[in-house]
Amino acid sequence: MINNALKILKQHYGYTTFRPGQDQIITSLLNYKDTLAIMPTGAGKSLCFQIPALLLTGITLVVSPLISLMKDQVDALGSLGIPATFINSSLTATEVNERIYNARCGHYKIIYIAPERLESEIFQSAIKSLTISFLAIDEAHCVSQWGHDFRPSYRAIGSFIRSLPIRPIIGAFTATATTDVTKDIVTLLALQKPGIYITGFDRENLLFTVVRGENKPDFTLKYIDANKDQSGIIYAATRKEVENLHTLLQKKGYSVGKYHAGLSDIERQRYQEAFIYDDISIMVATNAFGMGIDKSNVRYVIHYNMPKSMEAYYQEAGRAGRDGEKSECILLFGAQDPLLQRYLIEQTTVDIERKAHEIGKLQTMVDYCHTPECLRKFILNYFGETKVQAECDNCSNCNDDNELTDITLEAQKIFSCIMRMKERYGTTLVASVLKGSKDKKVLHLGFDSLSTYGLLKNYTVQEIRNSINRLIATDYLALTDSEYPVVRLTSKATAVLKGQATVWQKVPRRPQKLAVDNSLFEILRALRKEIADREKVPPYHVFADTALREMSEYCPTDNNGLLAIKGVGEVKLARYGQEFLQLLRQYADAHNLKPSSPALEAKQIAATKTQENPSHIITLQMYEEGQSLEQISKERNLKILTVQDHLVRCSTEGHAVNWNPLIPPKYEQLILRTIGELGASKLKILKDALPEEVEYTAIKAVLCKYSCGQ
Ligand code: ADP
Repeated sequence: MINNALKILKQHYGYTTFRPGQDQIITSLLNYKDTLAIMPTGAGKSLCFQIPALLLTGITLVVSPLISLMKDQVDALGSLGIPATFINSSLTATEVNERIYNARCGHYKIIYIAPERLESEIFQSAIKSLTISFLAIDEAHCVSQWGHDFRPSYRAIGSFIRSLPIRPIIGAFTATATTDVTKDIVTLLALQKPGIYITGFDRENLLFTVVRGENKPDFTLKYIDANKDQSGIIYAATRKEVENLHTLLQKKGYSVGKYHAGLSDIERQRYQEAFIYDDISIMVATNAFGMGIDKSNVRYVIHYNMPKSMEAYYQEAGRAGRDGEKSECILLFGAQDPLLQRYLIEQTTVDIERKAHEIGKLQTMVDYCHTPECLRKFILNYFGETKVQAECDNCSNCNDDNELTDITLEAQKIFSCIMRMKERYGTTLVASVLKGSKDKKVLHLGFDSLSTYGLLKNYTVQEIRNSINRLIATDYLALTDSEYPVVRLTSKATAVLKGQATVWQKVPRRPQKLAVDNSLFEILRALRKEIADREKVPPYHVFADTALREMSEYCPTDNNGLLAIKGVGEVKLARYGQEFLQLLRQYADAHNLKPSSPALEAKQIAATKTQENPSHIITLQMYEEGQSLEQISKERNLKILTVQDHLVRCSTEGHAVNWNPLIPPKYEQLILRTIGELGASKLKILKDALPEEVEYTAIKAVLCKYSCGQ
């Protein structure tokens, strides 16, 4: 059974292996068992209901909450060669009837429907004429009021199931479900003895970052400037914030869209499509944007404000890197964020018990923003995973290589100034006084006569504000819960003022550039955009970024080579293969490249492994004969990285390797010094600290040459 599923995986989707949990979930459904699958966003839920839909006789209904995405989802299935359609309120009654008629004639395997449909009696009786073998409920947490997207019409699903002449298999899918929500899903959707599958929540490719107390517009501008060509989403808490940020980014010349509930349907649709089709690279939005958006090449998600719960955060942040490529999730914490979220919770009309529940969740978010421990561990523990490594090396806390600095003196100046201003003003005025500003308000209130006036005149007002914000985030200062928050001292600050405690902080890191794209990748990306525009589909429906990156790495020049690329199935090969191959061939000719493929490389490694001479020794021999790493890589169809690793392995096994040709003489001492200062455990830290032209190869070579803690 699972073999048939694997065949479909390869044929339609172009993938060779299932991701964790997918095979068990598919097997459970194919064994006619009700199934609840809880997998994080981007883990590959859709495939878990689409593959059974193809293997079961009859039709699969997929209940999905977002009408605006159905067309996109159906188009995506079309591009994989899977016959599907949707029925929602965007269609006329005649169109609905036509689609049901076509379904009866066997034209579709999958029909997406909006939950509201299930309440319509006309629809219920029309649907009875179809053989529904499987009902898949996407975003199943919408059935629970404990979840974060409660949708009352999900409650109609239970009675809809009972109204069907033959009960179909029921599959429920969600990314976030706490124990309460899980219980609700099982009871309210009337699942019968369901198999419950909770895959790990970890998304290894995501780098989690919390930035506290920074100037948010400055940080955002610097970040997107460093990552200009990448797609990203910026979530803000309110419509107003979205509008302001959108205007700011537009003024700076970025192609940017916006999305919030105050825009018309048409405007929202227009921006959403432009983003999905890569016509604009940045989307600034409230949390109204994104549920079910399966744009796979979102490279970063910035939260401009702290969201109200870990569930909401992980779901939104999880929209980055669905294709498995390295992506970043940045949360910009500002001292006002908890106050704003609390205000929003208080404004809702829900009962007291529910409000308390939400405030508890909010506190967890605040804790996340302040924890000095691994952020990934914090998230995974929250979702109930207990066996989690203490450090992931892929979050801002684990990677924080900044020196802890004693800032007691600076902190005392700030605290003292706040005290002298009688703890009655906001951060900006305090910063202006410390700067020694000639601002009208400062002079009018006579603050220029305070002894703390101008105590931090060597800093900009913004830098002083940042310092104040960091002191708020670490609980030395607190903001009042009022319309114009006033900054006050806490007991922690009093101890510092009395000289009983010191303050140590890390200076925040600068925004970094994400992975650098190579030129072939860019060429392939341009072709993908051209095809996508011609076919009026989003670019990632043609091929995902992962597929393009693998193509640019291996440069296949024939059908078999292209089929070996992850994400290239037979349908896509037939549809787009020739155009891509033509380009790949041209590139290979122009750069004198020998085509290779992941499969070929694996075969070669396997073949050489069994030879008398292990593969890494062959590499060493070629290297000793004077061949460069690039030549060896081409000749042996291996990645440069593999060749480097071979040499490192030879060295650790005691073979003499002459590292000198790989180390630029003028940088050797500098690299060595930097290793001395920063340690040898993290290559990336060393790379960032050295001039850009120093390659990883050189760093590795110095590490090996001097046996620095390898
Ligand atoms: P979810 O619905 O869980 O958020 P999707 O179903 O949209 O995630 O899948 C996210 C991405 O992962 C898609 O681009 C999909 O094609 C890809 N994907 C799913 N399963 C696999 C697999 N077995 N191998 C490689 N990529 C996969």
